[in-house]
Amino acid sequence: MRANLLDFDLEALALFCDQLGEKRFRATQLFRWIHQKGATDFEQMSDLAKSLREKLVGRAFVQGLPVISQHISADGTIKWLFDVGEGNAVEAVFIPEDDRGTLCVSSQAGCAVGCRFCSTGHQGFSRNLSTGEIVAQLWFAEHFLRKHFKTSDRVISNVVMMGMGEPLQNYSALVPALRVMLDDHGYGLSRRRVTVSTSGVVPMMDRLALDCPVALAVSLHAPNDGLRSHLVPLNQKYPLDELLQACNRYLSHAPRDFITFEYCMLDGVNDQPEHARELIALVKKYATGGVWCKFNLIPFNPFPASGLKRSSQERVLAFAKLLLDAGLVTTVRKTRGDDIDAACGQLAGDVKDRTNVVVRMAQRRTLEVQTNSSLAKPTEEY
Ligand code: SAH
Ligand code: SF4
Repeated sequence: MRANLLDFDLEALALFCDQLGEKRFRATQLFRWIHQKGATDFEQMSDLAKSLREKLVGRAFVQGLPVISQHISADGTIKWLFDVGEGNAVEAVFIPEDDRGTLCVSSQAGCAVGCRFCSTGHQGFSRNLSTGEIVAQLWFAEHFLRKHFKTSDRVISNVVMMGMGEPLQNYSALVPALRVMLDDHGYGLSRRRVTVSTSGVVPMMDRLALDCPVALAVSLHAPNDGLRSHLVPLNQKYPLDELLQACNRYLSHAPRDFITFEYCMLDGVNDQPEHARELIALVKKYATGGVWCKFNLIPFNPFPASGLKRSSQERVLAFAKLLLDAGLVTTVRKTRGDDIDAACGQLAGDVKDRTNVVVRMAQRRTLEVQTNSSLAKPTEEY
């Protein structure tokens, strides 16, 4: 079977070349052709010996993902929907800013975590992406953008694993993909400019710290276990105490001296002053000194099936002020690409609804409503 070379980090490509009887520097040349020049045709790779090019034609190919659609927003944000087969599609979003170009990349078709406020979660899990499918999003976007902006310079300076899926539940494909992003012969991104966002898969956070430490964002969304388990079901497996301890352990390996906590602002659910105060007390309990975290408040991007609403701008600002006054660095995320549904948690594209999951979530909601009312909990706690 012929191999898709987008599936290989440089080590794996060197091994592949070794099996073809080729020296390591040939793998480096090949890797540069693919990732730095966007080449797919071995015949184009003029500095490779003809004999190697012939061997490659029989044994390998370079193939990206078919693009189903491309939308360009008024603010310059670009969203691509890629076909990953069998009715599944994933999205990548390019977000241009004055000083950087960020690509938001997907790691799975669907997601098994099932967060209440996330449309990917509502679709259910379809399958893990391969390394090549993760890399293909960056490979395509970078070379498309160079042509689009008529430049030979790098356009994408930052990658965030914040598209569809939970990257740490697709660990074995994720790590080689990160290595391609970081490799000087690949995209040459610094570890500080590649961010993995996780809903809190604690054991894999520890492994990432050792295997491939990059910047880490943790989706917190709630200041206590009751509310967090309700919003992010994975919290039942890895509760806040374990999660925050894992954050502390990660910091000693991380390329940055802080972890970003993402907090999606949901009207009347997690946006009250009590929640802010509880959050401050929580993170201060785990702080080992100085700034160790930054908060990124994300205004919720609503979608009908969630039954949730975005917090008002005043609430978000009041919440941010409480955190700031307590000495916590806090930013409010700008929503970008609103006109093309490219914002966080809206990356559902045309992917088919997985009815069983929608039904399950609806059942769970009913169950919890009953439990809550029988406990007569004051709504502010939630
Ligand atoms: N699975 C990973 C990464 C993908 S989601 C994670 O959960 O961290 C990237 C970010 O978007 C997460 O912080 C997630 O909580 C947030 N998000 C998901 N749905 C959202 C929505 N509808 N509105 C705003 N943010 C959302
Ligand atoms: Fe999965 Fe992240 Fe969405 Fe939760 S927020 S369902 S972990 S993609």
